[in-house]
Amino acid sequence: MVTQTDRYDLILAGGHVVDPRNGIDGPTDIAIRDGRIAAVGETLERDRASEVRDVSKLMVTPGLIDIHTHIYHKATYYGVDPDAVAARSAVTTLVDAGSAGAGNFDGLRDFIFARSPFRLLAYLNISYPGIFAFDRDFVVGEAAIRDLLSVERCVEVAEANRALIVGVKVRMGAKTSGDIGLEALDRALTAADRLGLPVMTHIGQPPPSYAQILERLRPGDILTHCFRPQPNGPTDGKGAVLDALLNARERGVLFDIGHGMGAFGFDSAEQAIAAGFAPDIISSDVHIMSINGPAFDLLHTMSKLITCGLGVKDAIAMATDVPARALGRDDLGHLSAGAPADISLIEQVKAHFPFVDVIGVKRTGATLLRPHGMLVAGRFVPPGVRAWETGHYLQ
Ligand SMILES: [Zn+2]
Repeated sequence: MVTQTDRYDLILAGGHVVDPRNGIDGPTDIAIRDGRIAAVGETLERDRASEVRDVSKLMVTPGLIDIHTHIYHKATYYGVDPDAVAARSAVTTLVDAGSAGAGNFDGLRDFIFARSPFRLLAYLNISYPGIFAFDRDFVVGEAAIRDLLSVERCVEVAEANRALIVGVKVRMGAKTSGDIGLEALDRALTAADRLGLPVMTHIGQPPPSYAQILERLRPGDILTHCFRPQPNGPTDGKGAVLDALLNARERGVLFDIGHGMGAFGFDSAEQAIAAGFAPDIISSDVHIMSINGPAFDLLHTMSKLITCGLGVKDAIAMATDVPARALGRDDLGHLSAGAPADISLIEQVKAHFPFVDVIGVKRTGATLLRPHGMLVAGRFVPPGVRAWETGHYLQ
């Protein structure tokens, strides 16, 4: 006899579950109760569920995590609406990468995070005002003004918001850290050391060089924009991955895609992957200048990496298991019984899709990942509008 306490709220039935952390890759049922995963098995007792949803045509993955986004919507010119981006890319967790600094994090927390049904986290910018002047036509480097790089303020605000702040962000590059250069990275590292959190560093045009940035990073720190086009790309331009990258990976530094409007090149990605240097994490760097191309969103970026030679399951691990660990969130990124029921529903379709990188180089992709909604803490969220799809490319 089935008692009330044995019942499930929902069973996702017969989907192709891809759960890298638990080594699951095949048809599996998932039962949900009270917002958590209650049971996982090849075939669960479906009459125990109040609702059974047939997902047998879909991939069922841990809730996707986009570790590099810009979602300080309307407070920053380039920020996008997290709810719209999440819905259209089946992403359950979005991490803002330094839009806010110590001077304006409270607004990100109270006006954006508190009002969203999705899980929203942040890297706090080492620069007091965050990224305050980023536009298609100009950038004022927030890391190029020494007076703004307050370690004290960064630590204070991160300490007061431990549940939401997952690390310290700094943007290194000729336009963003300017004459200050590596001192900006050193200040971010000092703050992160005091907090016991990782740094996420952007890499842009030199100076500093890829090697100069990497040699300072510690295990667990993240370099985002890892496959940017030259200059400051990941290879020597002829296909060999730079020693600096190999050494940093050996030490435990993580490499994140962070596609954005200027930081993903097919040549860089294909050369690195062909040489055995896949990224650790895939992220979109979605903002107002990349949301309508070339990055679009996380699912689009994952499809693009698959076109560069990654396996589908690897791409899913790079958007679930690995970023969850990088965030220090052991409860996320997997489908173990007891974990929050954050689950993405994805269709893998065959296509002839015209992908474009940030410098206009084109490739035709044969695989597309399409969103079919998701559960966030057990609550179903329908898929949003896929702005980049028109349908004519489907096989
Ligand atoms: Zn960014």
